[in-house]
Amino acid sequence: MTEFTLIPACGAAIPTDPFIGQHLIDGAWVGSADGAVFERHSPAHGDLVSRSARGGGDDIARAIAAARHAFDAGDWAASPGAARARILLKTADLIDENRERIAVLETLESGKPITQARAEIEGAADLWRYAAALARTLHGDSHNSLGPDMLGMVLKEPVGVVSLITPWNFPFLIISQKLPFALAAGCTAVVKPSEMTPSTTVILGQLLQRAGLADGVVNIVLGYGDPVGALMTGDDRVDMVSFTGSTAVGKQIVRTAAGTLKKVSLELGGKNPQVIFPDADLEAAADAIVFGVYFNAGECCNSGSRIIVHEDVAGTLTEMVVDASRKVPFGDPLDPRTKVGAIISPDHQAKIAAYVRDAETAGAQVALGGKALSIDGLAGQFHAPTIVTGVTPDMAIATEEVFGPVLSVLTFRTMDQAILLANSAPYGLSAGVWSRDVYTCLEFSRRVRAGTVWTNTWMDGFAEMPFGGVKQSGQGRELGRYGIEEFLEVKSVQMRIGDTRPRWVA
Ligand code: NDP
Repeated sequence: MTEFTLIPACGAAIPTDPFIGQHLIDGAWVGSADGAVFERHSPAHGDLVSRSARGGGDDIARAIAAARHAFDAGDWAASPGAARARILLKTADLIDENRERIAVLETLESGKPITQARAEIEGAADLWRYAAALARTLHGDSHNSLGPDMLGMVLKEPVGVVSLITPWNFPFLIISQKLPFALAAGCTAVVKPSEMTPSTTVILGQLLQRAGLADGVVNIVLGYGDPVGALMTGDDRVDMVSFTGSTAVGKQIVRTAAGTLKKVSLELGGKNPQVIFPDADLEAAADAIVFGVYFNAGECCNSGSRIIVHEDVAGTLTEMVVDASRKVPFGDPLDPRTKVGAIISPDHQAKIAAYVRDAETAGAQVALGGKALSIDGLAGQFHAPTIVTGVTPDMAIATEEVFGPVLSVLTFRTMDQAILLANSAPYGLSAGVWSRDVYTCLEFSRRVRAGTVWTNTWMDGFAEMPFGGVKQSGQGRELGRYGIEEFLEVKSVQMRIGDTRPRWVA
């Protein structure tokens, strides 16, 4: 049997001219005040993909001022939900029309497979449509039982100016988990994509303009976390920060935001366990495990990066997972057959390799992979599908986010042990359980500490279902109706009817 399934360079044309990205500030596309730029090369092919304005203090200050002015002017915040919905729906249509263009750029900057990128852009359009529905159904409460002379109203109001900071692993999808919900609520925004994947967010800005969004409602500043992200977090003209990325930067954001006590919503890392009981459909579980750990090359907050398998089936299941892993096509992300593309950067590749090395040193065994892959005709970095067995809870690889195509295998005997292991990581993003017994699934679902639990499946997602983490995986929720609630404040209005108020001073 071949060791791995590799897809060589497919020869698909890569644009010869790089995509040029500028900031969107108050409706104008502009370079940086100091003229600085940065470049992004395809992590799979090595080719220059984009050249972007590199934002600094002046650029971010102007973007925040524009968002503040647009919010305070009230045109967007006070517009009817139906009017906001029209713009969101038009944006969704434009995303569909531009799907291929966005997907190719996403693949070239991130290294993810083109078929996956297309599906993500399609999913993103669905989120814009879902948020449009929320814009029209947004409402507060009334209290008609406070007595004959009182009426209480609970108004939902937009939080204000929001800073949206996104990572490189799902650039277009993650901004679409935030921005349409913020806009549906009536907020204005300043957006910063990761410096590794800025271009599809720029295209989104262009589409928003074509959809008729007024100047200043959405502003985009390209550049690095330092200084752009940090300034977006500390500025007192910003009311809220919504961030997706690493737990370390999430903590930094909380510290910076504390200076002005702004609202903070965080989607951070995960060390997501799948627990497999002996009565499970092992074939279905093996396929989902392979999907869970290699999807997006494991560069995924929801990566199913550790399995906790009952001792009676651990040997059999591990063999099945190793066999299936050899069949997963790794290689040129522009080839539609590829399921796993490149690793985002050489530094990240080195970090993944170090986790595997350290686990081996600590006594674990590498059952498959554990090394860089070289793919014919491609200059970028790839990592082999990797399975590490004999992992014990004290090893870093058991509890820390590797963010690569690396599976850790742990074992258990009883439900209590499984729960203890599942809850042993500092994270609590998602978890899964495999069993044909509904009581086993229910008990696990109720006892595991996670924002999402999958039973007999992995990583299904719906616009309707809230997403977020507990413990160090974050705070707040995206998607579902909670996705818009994040961007709303609650105001109590208490109305006395008639001159019925008892006098305090006679
Ligand atoms: P980061 O958390 O560093 O970056 C996410 C975003 O935050 C980027 O736009 C980044 O800018 C920005 N940022 C960085 N520093 C600050 C700051 N002080 N204030 C405000 N914004 C800031 O993730 P990385 O891209 O560096 O990835 C590192 C690790 O994070 C990964 O190995 C993985 O473990 C984890 N990660 C988790 C994700 C998730 O979905 N949960 C997503 C991505 C990463 P820029 O990078 O452009 O400088």
